[in-house]
Amino acid sequence: MVQTICKQCGTAFEIADEDLKFYEQVSPVFSGKKYLIPPPKYCPDCRQQRRLAMCNEQNLYNSTCDLCKKEMISQFQPNQTFPVYCRDCWHSDEWDPKECGKDFDFSRPFFEQFAELQKSVPAQGRDVQGTVINCEYIHFAGFSKNCYLIMHADFCEDCLYGYGFKKNIACVDGFYNLHSELCYECIDAHKCYELIGSQECVNCSSSWFLRDCIGCKNCILCTGLRDKEYCIENQQYSKEDYMARKKEMDLGSYKTYQRLKEKLQDLELKHTFKEYQGHNLQNCSGNHLYNCKNTFESFDCEDVEDGKYCYQMVLSSKNIYDTYQYGTNLQESLESCICGDNGYHILFCFGGHVDSTDLSYCWYMESCKDCFGCTFMHHQRYCIFNKQYTKEEYEELVPKIIEHMQKTGEWGEHFPMKNSFFGYNHTTASLYYPLAKEEAQICGARWSDYEPPPPKVEKVIPADRLPDNIDDIPDDVLNWAITCEVTGKPFIITQQELRLYRQMRVPLPRRNWQQRQLERFNKRNPRKLFERKCDKCGKDIKTTYSPERPEIVYCEDCYHKEVYV
Ligand SMILES: [Zn+2]
Ligand SMILES: [Zn+2]
Ligand SMILES: [Zn+2]
Repeated sequence: MVQTICKQCGTAFEIADEDLKFYEQVSPVFSGKKYLIPPPKYCPDCRQQRRLAMCNEQNLYNSTCDLCKKEMISQFQPNQTFPVYCRDCWHSDEWDPKECGKDFDFSRPFFEQFAELQKSVPAQGRDVQGTVINCEYIHFAGFSKNCYLIMHADFCEDCLYGYGFKKNIACVDGFYNLHSELCYECIDAHKCYELIGSQECVNCSSSWFLRDCIGCKNCILCTGLRDKEYCIENQQYSKEDYMARKKEMDLGSYKTYQRLKEKLQDLELKHTFKEYQGHNLQNCSGNHLYNCKNTFESFDCEDVEDGKYCYQMVLSSKNIYDTYQYGTNLQESLESCICGDNGYHILFCFGGHVDSTDLSYCWYMESCKDCFGCTFMHHQRYCIFNKQYTKEEYEELVPKIIEHMQKTGEWGEHFPMKNSFFGYNHTTASLYYPLAKEEAQICGARWSDYEPPPPKVEKVIPADRLPDNIDDIPDDVLNWAITCEVTGKPFIITQQELRLYRQMRVPLPRRNWQQRQLERFNKRNPRKLFERKCDKCGKDIKTTYSPERPEIVYCEDCYHKEVYV
């Protein structure tokens, strides 16, 4: 084990022997010589922050494709200095990313030259995979139909304002909803139906405001229940009494909805939480882990084996460190973001899709093999700085660049924040690691002051002027913009959205979707493990509930023995 000090934040952190073994295992080999990846100089949090600073998941803009000139929705602010193409044009034969190819200059640092390459190769407006129908506003998503503003989402239909959605139908305003239908304002809801305002629930249906419930039906304001029906505030009622009490609560009223939402927050403080959320784990640490083995300090992962510092990785990923999104059979990879779909040996990359293998320091590649320092390419092999080489030339030149990067101190470091296309305040890093403009600039990040033009509408009304009840909202609302009660920014309601609110009988939102998303984000625990003691037996536990938090937290054994037998 090595103790070291983070170059960015000055915090002491440990590099375990198995970490060093992993770095050696994934170090690339050329002509029989292994080019060792050195131990990290940044702590795990600073490494994660640097990766997330590359990622704009939430800000989409009206823009124009620089090739076909059609209007499109893009992750890039309009009027960029580099070309941005729509999905069809980007995948067409109308252009060749190798036309922007450059010779590597051994007199200059790698990242500086890479930044110049980034600004010359046409970028893709949004990251969308597979067949998508009527989904102009989705990003880092695919295989979906009639969806609007969903991110990190696949196989969804009629879903709106979601993050981390998989196989959902008609879910609105959700965070990590899987295999669910007609859910509204739910966080970590799996296999749920007609569930409203609930968090960490599995197999629940026709219920409102539940927390940590499994297999419940027709329940309101309950916490920690298993296989119950007709309960309110954890009290059992007869079907008739339940229905009568439910009738008194008009969920379509904004005031009632808010009152019930606040009531759940009070009940949560009396609830006993398990040290972590997850199941079927062998030798793991983190939170929201499912079917994982030997996976540590990882969050929101499913089917990961031999992983560390993994975030949002799913489905058969093995031997991966420091990865953010998304897996699906990603192996032997280190310090990469948005990579997967049969990826193998991807090092220090951002965006590596569909059968990509042996990529280092690349930016957004699809179906590419053996590429180094390339950007926005698909179906290529043996390229360096977007220039084509033979196999022999490639294997001779890459080691020389690595040796150069060893001298400049760049080898083994992820792209610095200054290589990001986005202002820090528009990236996912700003959610997990909020920084003021000056602090972001000290880290080398840029900042965006861009404000999109206001929506073209007949009138703008303040949120508090909306009728309280969904039944009293006229169709005319589709022609208005509403001023968000928190941010003051105007937002619109779409027809599909209004129809779903009416169908679910929930009130119209008073806050814009980014603000709602931020509030849901804050309802989840941080992706950080704290030392704490089990509130029952006093055993040391590692949990995402920091010791100062007011919740009651039990170790796994006590939770199962004492609380939910
Ligand atoms: Zn640090
Ligand atoms: Zn186009
Ligand atoms: Zn205990």
